[in-house]
Amino acid sequence: MTEKSTGKSEHQRVYWLRDAEQQFPSLDRNLTCDIIIIGGGITGTAAAYWMRQAGARVVVLEEELVASGASGRNGGFLLTGTVEHYARAVALIGREKTRRLFAFTVDNIRLMKDFIREHQVGCDLDETGSLHAAISTEEDAELKESVALMQADGFSVEYRNETEIADLTRSSLFKGGLFTPADAGVHPARLVSGMARAARDRDALIFENTPVTQIIHDDYDSVTVETPKGRVSGYLLLLGTNAYSQLMDDFFTDKILPVRGHAMVTSPIPQKLWEPVIYANFGYEYFRQLPDGRVLMGGMRESVPGGDAQHFNELPDERVTTKLSAYLKDNFSDLKKFTVDYEWAGIMGFSRDGIPMLGSLPGKSNIFAAGGYTGHGMGFGFSMGRLAAQVMLDGENTNMDLFSLRRLVK
Ligand SMILES: Cc1cc2nc3c(=O)[nH]c(=O)nc-3n(C[C@H](O)[C@H](O)[C@H](O)COP(=O)(O)OP(=O)(O)OC[C@H]3O[C@@H](n4cnc5c(N)ncnc54)[C@H](O)[C@@H]3O)c2cc1C
Repeated sequence: MTEKSTGKSEHQRVYWLRDAEQQFPSLDRNLTCDIIIIGGGITGTAAAYWMRQAGARVVVLEEELVASGASGRNGGFLLTGTVEHYARAVALIGREKTRRLFAFTVDNIRLMKDFIREHQVGCDLDETGSLHAAISTEEDAELKESVALMQADGFSVEYRNETEIADLTRSSLFKGGLFTPADAGVHPARLVSGMARAARDRDALIFENTPVTQIIHDDYDSVTVETPKGRVSGYLLLLGTNAYSQLMDDFFTDKILPVRGHAMVTSPIPQKLWEPVIYANFGYEYFRQLPDGRVLMGGMRESVPGGDAQHFNELPDERVTTKLSAYLKDNFSDLKKFTVDYEWAGIMGFSRDGIPMLGSLPGKSNIFAAGGYTGHGMGFGFSMGRLAAQVMLDGENTNMDLFSLRRLVK
C-alpha cells in the first residue's frame, strides 16, 4: 500500500478542528468482526452507525482522528443536489436520474436533521436554507430553468430575482438565485463525531490514530487488515477513504481523483450578514456566517494555476487563501475590515462523472467502497452510509443503478 505523501496541516489552523482531541483508543490487539470500515469521516462513521442498527459487529479504523479528513475541513453546507445545477444535470444524465439523485440528498438532509435531534448532537444546526447565487446572466438562466424543473418534479425551491438577491446577500454581485428552504449549515466535525459516538454507544469499536497499512484479501468471504499494533479480520470490508482510496487499491486511480479545496474563517463580524448559506458561481465560491459572527469563505481552487493540485498534501496554497479574503473585501461593503483567523485545505474525492459511487471491487466481492462525492459528501454521506449497510448486509439494490462503481470501469 502506498504511503500518504501527506503534509496534514496542523488541526489548530482548521476552525472546526481547533480543539480536536483523541476520543477513541488506538488499536493494540488482534480482533475479529463482521465488517471492517477504513476511514472515520462521514462515510465511515455513518456506515458504522447504520450497520450497528442492523446488528453487525463493526470495527472502524481511522488513521488520524475522527473527522480529521475532508469531513472536518469542509464548509458545513448540507445542500440538496450534486455538483451540477438541476437543469445541467438533466441535460447530462437525464431527468429521471437527476430527480432520483437530488431526492437522495433531500432524504439525506432530513435523516441527518432527525439524527441530530434524536441524539442531541451539539453541531450548531442552522436551518435557514441555502441560496445558489448566479454570477452571470447565463447562470441565472440555468437557475431559473432549474427552479421550474425542480418544482415540476416535486422539490421545494424558490427563485429569487436580482433585487431580492441583492437584499439577501448584501451585495450587487449576483443576478438571481435558487433558494432551498430545507438545506442547512452545521459544524461538520461535531456532527461526524456525534455519528461516531452514536455508533460507539451501540457497540461499534472505533479506533483513532490507527492507520491501515495493508489489506489482505483472503478469499470471497474473508479479509484481514494490518495496522501497526494489531490486525483485524472480518467477512466484509468498506473503504470509507474517499480521496485516499487510490492509496488503498489501484482500482481507484482513475475513478476517485484527489482534489484540494480551501476554506478560511474571519474574525467575528458584529452585524448579521446573511441568513442562508450561500453557494455562488456554480459552487466555485461559497460563504456563510457562523453562529459566533465569523464568516467562512471557501472555494476558488480554480483561481490560480494548480490551486486544486491533485495530490494528498493538506497544506493550503497561500495564493488561494489570499483570493478568498480578497473576494469578501471586494464584494461586500460590510466586510472591509477583518483578520483571517483560520485557513486550511482538505482533500476532496471527485468521481469522473461527478456522481458518487458505492459497490464492491471487481474480483474482490467482499471489499466495498463508498465515495467520489465531488465536493458534496455532507449532502450524500449519511444516506450513503445507510445504503452501504443495506447493500452489504442485505444485498439491497435500490438506487445501485445510480451509484454502481462498475459504471466507471472502461
Ligand atoms: C475545503 C472543503 C470544503 C467542502 N465543503 C463541503 C460542503 O460545504 N458541503 C459538502 O457536502 N461537502 C463539502 N466538501 C466535501 C466533503 O467534505 C467530503 O465530500 C466528505 O467529507 C467526504 O467524506 P468521507 O468520509 O468520504 O471522506 P473523508 O472525510 O476524507 O474521510 C476519509 C478518512 O479516511 C482516513 N484514511 C485514509 N487512509 C487511511 C488508512 N490507510 N487507514 C485508516 N484511515 C485512513 C482519513 O484520515 C480520513 O479521515 C468540502 C471539502 C473540502 C476539502
